[in-house]
Amino acid sequence: MKAKIAYNYYFDYESKIDTWPEGTSIVPHEDHKTSIYDKEKDDYIINDYYFEIYSKNPDSYFCSPSAKTLEEAEKLGYKKFQEYVNCIEHEFERRNYTTGVGYCKHCNLFKSEAFLPSTLCIICKQPTNFCYDSIKNYYCEDHAFENKDEKYLNEKKELELFKEKMKKIKESKFEREKFKESLKNVMHAIADSVSIEK
Ligand SMILES: [Zn+2]
Ligand SMILES: [Zn+2]
Repeated sequence: MKAKIAYNYYFDYESKIDTWPEGTSIVPHEDHKTSIYDKEKDDYIINDYYFEIYSKNPDSYFCSPSAKTLEEAEKLGYKKFQEYVNCIEHEFERRNYTTGVGYCKHCNLFKSEAFLPSTLCIICKQPTNFCYDSIKNYYCEDHAFENKDEKYLNEKKELELFKEKMKKIKESKFEREKFKESLKNVMHAIADSVSIEK
């Protein structure tokens, strides 16, 4: 089976390998590390390409080595993938990550949920990676609003303002009409921008 090419906006590329397992997507990229800015053309000259590769079988995510052509990069990615497939038994280790990701000791396979996060919610003491504050106290999804970090306080404030606004709109006919009018304007603006694009 050929890999599904995701986000193929810039490259009209079709997978050249038909033995990827089902559920594999590959995302073509230019390698910006080796691209050179051409002053005259005001554009970048691309020298190398690589793929981001997501597979469900085995569950994996990695980047292929870079190569001069997309076809070559896909081949190199596939070779790396075969190392994962042929690993007899993955043995994951956290290395320096606390989020729960793991790398296989033998083939280097990256797995996003190999472990539970090693950080605990400060409130309920459950392993979580959901959010943390400026002094690196972690909060799970249920206790995220206990996070007194500015960013989360602002989000909380915005949510409350929005709720208040919606309540007003519900309760007052005048506010409802105003809201409808503003929606109409948004729809017109979208319609205009679409017809300009055409
Ligand atoms: Zn392995
Ligand atoms: Zn919690």
